[in-house]
Amino acid sequence: MHPLRSSRPYLLASLRSSRPYVLTYLTFLLVSLLPGCTPKTSPDYPIIPAEISQVTLTDSFWAPRIQRDIEITIPAVLQKLYETGRIRNFQNAGKVLQGKSQSEEFCTAFPFDDSDVFKLIDAGAYAILNLKGKAERTKLELQIDSLIRLIGAAQEIDGYLYTARTMKPKVIPDMSGKERFINEQENSHELYNLGHLYEAACTYYEATDKKILLNIATRSADFLYKVFIEGKLVRYPGHEEIETGLARLYRTTGNPHYLELSNYFLEVRGPGGLDYNQAHIKPLEQTEAVGHAVRGMYLYSGMTELGVLKPDTVYLKAVGKIWNDIVRSKTYLTGGVGSKSSNEGFGDPYDLPNHTAYCETCSSIGFILWNERMFRLTGDSKYMDLLEKTLYNAFLSGIALSGDHFFYPNPLESWGKKVRPDWYACACCPPNVARLIPMVPRFMYARSGNKIFLNLFASGKAVLKVAGTNFTIGQETRYPWDGKVEIAVNPEKSAQSAILLRIPGWVVNQAFASDLYSFTSASGKKYSVSINGEPYEAPIQNGYAAIDRKWKKGDKILLNLPMTVRLVEANAKVTVDAGKVAVQRGPIIYCAEAADHDVSVLTMTIDTTTIFNGIYQPDLLNGIYKMACLANSFSKPSSLASRPHPLTSFTSSLPHILTLIPYFAWANRASGEMAVWFATAPQYITRFPEPPGLEAKAKGSASYAYDNSIPYLNDGIDPVNSADRGNNAFRLHPHKGTDEWIAYEFDQPQKLSSVKVYWLEDESYCLPVSWKLSYKKEDGSWAPVDSFSPYLIEKDQYNEVTFVAVKTTGLRIDMKLNQVGPGGIIEWKVN
Ligand SMILES: [Zn+2]
Repeated sequence: MHPLRSSRPYLLASLRSSRPYVLTYLTFLLVSLLPGCTPKTSPDYPIIPAEISQVTLTDSFWAPRIQRDIEITIPAVLQKLYETGRIRNFQNAGKVLQGKSQSEEFCTAFPFDDSDVFKLIDAGAYAILNLKGKAERTKLELQIDSLIRLIGAAQEIDGYLYTARTMKPKVIPDMSGKERFINEQENSHELYNLGHLYEAACTYYEATDKKILLNIATRSADFLYKVFIEGKLVRYPGHEEIETGLARLYRTTGNPHYLELSNYFLEVRGPGGLDYNQAHIKPLEQTEAVGHAVRGMYLYSGMTELGVLKPDTVYLKAVGKIWNDIVRSKTYLTGGVGSKSSNEGFGDPYDLPNHTAYCETCSSIGFILWNERMFRLTGDSKYMDLLEKTLYNAFLSGIALSGDHFFYPNPLESWGKKVRPDWYACACCPPNVARLIPMVPRFMYARSGNKIFLNLFASGKAVLKVAGTNFTIGQETRYPWDGKVEIAVNPEKSAQSAILLRIPGWVVNQAFASDLYSFTSASGKKYSVSINGEPYEAPIQNGYAAIDRKWKKGDKILLNLPMTVRLVEANAKVTVDAGKVAVQRGPIIYCAEAADHDVSVLTMTIDTTTIFNGIYQPDLLNGIYKMACLANSFSKPSSLASRPHPLTSFTSSLPHILTLIPYFAWANRASGEMAVWFATAPQYITRFPEPPGLEAKAKGSASYAYDNSIPYLNDGIDPVNSADRGNNAFRLHPHKGTDEWIAYEFDQPQKLSSVKVYWLEDESYCLPVSWKLSYKKEDGSWAPVDSFSPYLIEKDQYNEVTFVAVKTTGLRIDMKLNQVGPGGIIEWKVN
């Protein structure tokens, strides 16, 4: 919101402040009030989103999710921030503890952990905007205020804020660098953290009128202005985010320095840096999405902001090209982006593997927020279509139905063993999820001039000021399970206005905004609009059915979006999906998971003419529309030399029922196989599960494991090479040069005589220096095995060690890690 257009009482608040921008603001206001003087407004988006406080949801999809976010997710994340030391870092930096409890130790793994605290405050502030009840608001505000006091204490006198350095720890984290900003372009994340701080500060001010965090933010941004603009320090942010944070701070305060600084960070980016963080060429010259997907999304959002706020920067030309590139060849059917785990980012065009799909939850959030900006810039429904797709599918998969477990990567296929943990060592996603869910009401409605946009469908109401009067727009619908939407239009006084109803692509036979995905056949069912019971042929503008008329109290619109089951196929260039289809109904992409099947869902085929039956089940997975169809299941043929496999390899199969649930709801019952894409004939099946080895019976443990990665040791997934980490490797990041162990324990004694180890080695991980094997004796002690073969450490292959057979309940690998980088194991088999 620009201060001049906003309804926030910023003027009063800013009069209490002594910032120089007050003068600018007052001069502007005075000039604009002079008779005969046309008010000059700063450029901004032509479309303004609904204010969250003006939207009330009563639906059974989003309203309970927002409530769960407030009651479960935000408290759970807050507890983790305390438990893991993230808040302790602020206490240590601010020296707020007494005597012995004060320490100078950086308590967590990464210097960007500060940002998790800022994101949680942002989440709390968005929650407050949703909360109409006073008691809940007060409790949240008290919790946030106590966090803000710690942040204030941790801020240095000149405005610098970065706990990893300020506490002067004995060992400063590697990533931070020895001096301020020296490592910023690489990995210190000093500016990244602040971007999230600025966002949180603006939201908290918007929600509460309290300036306590905004003052910390402006002190920090004023300090950056001195260092980077006045001090001419040329350094770009290694991880983008501050660009959008500063643009937001500019809108909230009106201080042009923040816009200048935001633009500066874009101007000094590249060329000659890494494509990993989009610094390989100047942002203006970029036409393709490359590198780390979250960084990319934040950069493209920042460029969009600057292109809008400072049109002379012409960033909008570049973002249009990049958006097209992503949509043409780099987006999953779920709306997720970023296919590779090695860079947490974009791969080659059309390279969209399913079981190793990264689709980090944060990149979905970034994509949603960028698409929302592109919509506000253009009024084109294609951006809202994509926002809806990502929101209901790739993003929602990132949080368990319970509200307190999270996925970081969101693959479209699982070979088993994927569970949502309650936290990650690198915990960027959980607090980001917590802040996006209460933002959803803002995406639903928007206004511009005399237009009202109805973007997302959910029961409830919103108040928007248009054409000089307050319009209350009510919705009654069971969306996303049913496409009938009853809209009640109630202007305070009769007024001419255009109400624009988004007609989703899926209802007009457009599966996607490019030819990356299409429906296998056209649906004959058409959407319809009626006004006060009379059919109405609404002209289509930018994908919206536009109804421009004089509205009066009690007017009713009925929008009917027929929700039929649709089969989707991918562009032939997406080779992994060749001969496969996915199932979509309305905005929801479906999947099948092991919990509903007694055969492998990966080996089931469906006929494109198959008939689907569906029913809404209120008690299943918090209420979902569940579907089923007839399918066949095939077992592995004797020879699978080529793919598509020759049809003659397969013997006839038994018919089965394939049960389909929304993709977002997978992995909420038990871990197991999951598939979004189904072969249409057996020759297109891409994986036949191997019978599990003895290791499948083992329970793994380790001296240390990064991000709950122990289950990947024996998940039965053979790698292509040592860099094929997928999301499927046991990892010891960030440990280097240390002695570590991993063990398998069995319920019953097993006779074992060999092991095979596939080491992880890529740009981040190194092979270990040495390893050896022990077995557990009856008395519980460990003894070395009597090996016949050397302990090889070769990459891109299994390293097998055979030994004199032992009967044991445990086997252990002891290894010494390389000094250069952390180690990991993709797979450990025993025989
Ligand atoms: Zn993340």
